Amino acid sequence: MSALLEVSGISKSFDGFKAINNLSFSINAVELRAVIGPNGAGKTTFMDIVTGKTRPDAGEVLWGDGSKSLLKMNEAQIAREGIGRKFQRPTVFEDQSVADNLIMALKADRSPFAVLRWRPTAESGARVAELAAEVGLADQLPRLAGELSHGQKQWLEIGMLLAQEPRLLLVDEPAAGMTLAEREQTTTLLCRLAETRAVVVVEHDMDFVRRLNCRVTVLHQGSVLAEGSLDHVTRNPDVIDVYLGR
Ligand code: ADP
Repeated sequence: MSALLEVSGISKSFDGFKAINNLSFSINAVELRAVIGPNGAGKTTFMDIVTGKTRPDAGEVLWGDGSKSLLKMNEAQIAREGIGRKFQRPTVFEDQSVADNLIMALKADRSPFAVLRWRPTAESGARVAELAAEVGLADQLPRLAGELSHGQKQWLEIGMLLAQEPRLLLVDEPAAGMTLAEREQTTTLLCRLAETRAVVVVEHDMDFVRRLNCRVTVLHQGSVLAEGSLDHVTRNPDVIDVYLGR
């Protein structure tokens, strides 16, 4: 299988402290991957580098067929390449309807004015309905986003990211604060999305990672400590040391 994202030998220091230390790994074009690791392992810095928010001091980040360097692009260009990032807290427009939030996302213009400028066409209306259905919000289109449950807001934001047709979705702790039923739906959603694209889930919650049932990359001190199934990595003595502090 071909790599969509190839991170090789990246390092990043903050005031002499190596947050990312010669990190290498790759993500396939169609794959669900969980990235786990204790606090301070470098997970956020890794996502910041891939999305162009932070530049590494060394290394390379290749994209697509390996011919493009993400390090030569700014944040907007990287987003246009098809890399979407979902932060932990949902950032939807609470005083706008679910439909209008999706319209703003379709306009690739996250401003409420996008709705005013929007002229509905049969095609765009169908796309809004399709996006809502994809994230389980088909019957919520007229509702104000602020009235949605926490889980529904997270799904709406994922729907907004899908409007840009990402090839890689980076999702930060999607299940945090969700009810059990919402976590189950989120698992189903992420697994389905990963059938046609790459989805990388950064997660602390091992129970949720187990549900995802996917390949896991364990980060520690800015490097890959272990990789494989969750059962495989949790049997690794180094991983046990890091997590249990032995
Ligand atoms: P994680 O997301 O796995 O908890 P981070 O990537 O946030 O880890 O952080 C890795 C390390 O880098 C931490 O020790 C953190 O304090 C440090 N760090 C991250 N960003 C900065 C920054 N902008 N300035 C200084 N230190 C930072």
